[in-house]
Amino acid sequence: MKNLFYIILFIVPLIFYSCSKEEPMTPEDSQIVYVCTSYSATTYHTDRNCPRLKKCSADIFEVTRRKARENGRIICSDCRKRDENKAPDTVK
Ligand SMILES: [Zn+2]
Repeated sequence: MKNLFYIILFIVPLIFYSCSKEEPMTPEDSQIVYVCTSYSATTYHTDRNCPRLKKCSADIFEVTRRKARENGRIICSDCRKRDENKAPDTVK
């Protein structure tokens, strides 16, 4: 139980620090996306079950959308279409 206390004591300031240091994240930025760690992969996926992601022969990492973009990843065209279909703005 004492260990847990130390973990909290250590992690909470860390979270506060990283939040205050960086510019505010939009909900989109903090969305979890999936990236294939293969060298040839240049995209990220919003759907864990994306057929393109299933072709990945390397490890699949969960990162925030912001992190994926920072690493030069662009959204997979399949996932983008899927997201656009889901977005209420396009329903009009
Ligand atoms: Zn995809």
